[in-house]
Amino acid sequence: MPDSSRDLLIQKGRIVDPSQAMDGSADLLVRQGRVAAIGKNIQAPEAQILDASGLVVAPGLIDLHTHLREPGREHAETIESGGRAAAAGGFTSVLAMPNTRPINDNAAVTHFIIQTARQHSPVNVYPVGAISEGSRGQRLAPLGEMREAGIAALSDDGMPVMNSNLMREAMSYACGLGITVIDHCEDLDLSADGLMHEGYAALRSGLRAISSSSEDVMVARDILLAAQTGAHFHVAHLSTATSLEMVRQAKLRGLPVTCEVTPHHFTLTDEDVKDYDTNYKMKPPLRSRQDREALLQGLADGTVDAIATDHAPHAGSEKMQEFERAPFGITGLETALGLALDRLLHAGHIGLTRLVELFSVNPARIVGLDRGTLKVGAVADITLFDPERRWGFDVNQSCSRSRNTPFHGYSLRGGPVATIVAGQIVWQAGSEKSSNQK
Ligand SMILES: [Zn+2]
Ligand SMILES: [Zn+2]
Repeated sequence: MPDSSRDLLIQKGRIVDPSQAMDGSADLLVRQGRVAAIGKNIQAPEAQILDASGLVVAPGLIDLHTHLREPGREHAETIESGGRAAAAGGFTSVLAMPNTRPINDNAAVTHFIIQTARQHSPVNVYPVGAISEGSRGQRLAPLGEMREAGIAALSDDGMPVMNSNLMREAMSYACGLGITVIDHCEDLDLSADGLMHEGYAALRSGLRAISSSSEDVMVARDILLAAQTGAHFHVAHLSTATSLEMVRQAKLRGLPVTCEVTPHHFTLTDEDVKDYDTNYKMKPPLRSRQDREALLQGLADGTVDAIATDHAPHAGSEKMQEFERAPFGITGLETALGLALDRLLHAGHIGLTRLVELFSVNPARIVGLDRGTLKVGAVADITLFDPERRWGFDVNQSCSRSRNTPFHGYSLRGGPVATIVAGQIVWQAGSEKSSNQK
């Protein structure tokens, strides 16, 4: 067992912390779980040494969008297995979406998730509370009670609130409670029983299509409601060029609107959906090449605030069905940072500072977490990554209980090396069989 009282000295890393406009080589000392000092040649003879030569030292990565499946569907993921997958992906905190069984729509479920995570998860888990009772979209859940119990945000992810008046009420309360509303923007009548993005690829495959408008209509509605109520509205897994443009305009007007994009939407398009492989089935669906181009532009110019995984584990038996019958969603915690380094940084779309903003500083700000910074005195949640390490993702080595990913076998340039939560090293590349290093 690691000695929690022992100091940790991270030596000779490149510290990239946009929260304090820092990018340079330095040592970082952790004492009693907090950042104690940053500087050149720090002397700490008693400390455990971590050599970070050639590595980036960043405030810990925060995933705004994870599904942990506990309580209720532990065969697909538990708080422990999902937490270990997060740590192996370089994440120090995750927000857990409420569509468990039962739904996290009351303080008892919120408490259960927090307690279980404290005992079993190597990373911080922040529950997201449901907007409506049972996420049925009829009556508001007890938002204040759940806020007291410790939820970090509100969402009916996956079962979006179709009733605009209920959403308006939710936003009014959320504004008063100072809590962010995260909406999975989908008009269920427009998407109907669609399976993939509406375009040539869908025509060719014969699969029923989901139009871009199913997302765009709800983004437009929620921007209007956010303007009216003053609530902070965060768009989950934004996937279309039109929605992105609406967020851009809302920001220009000074509205409290933010958005996240997933690694699969900035990496893949509907043309990648091949052979009816259900590892390409998710909501929102993989969009067109033009949509992907727009997302890359938004990631570069600051319109996109965060990268979030929408890690959605499903057991093999569930995903190994016909495309039509398989559930939506793919895993993503262990591939997110590698894909961002490979497809965004090395492809020249963004720099390191922006990457750390997207993964850590901004997610913390969006939901008001006291994280996402390495300022002296802050909790020492730290991610070490190597922008150059070449590795291949082998899903059979995954810490997740599920295997539903389209990224098995991908060769990536750049990936996590160590994950530190409150000063404790909770994962290191090569230190366990879950390592993906090659
Ligand atoms: Zn969703
Ligand atoms: Zn989701």
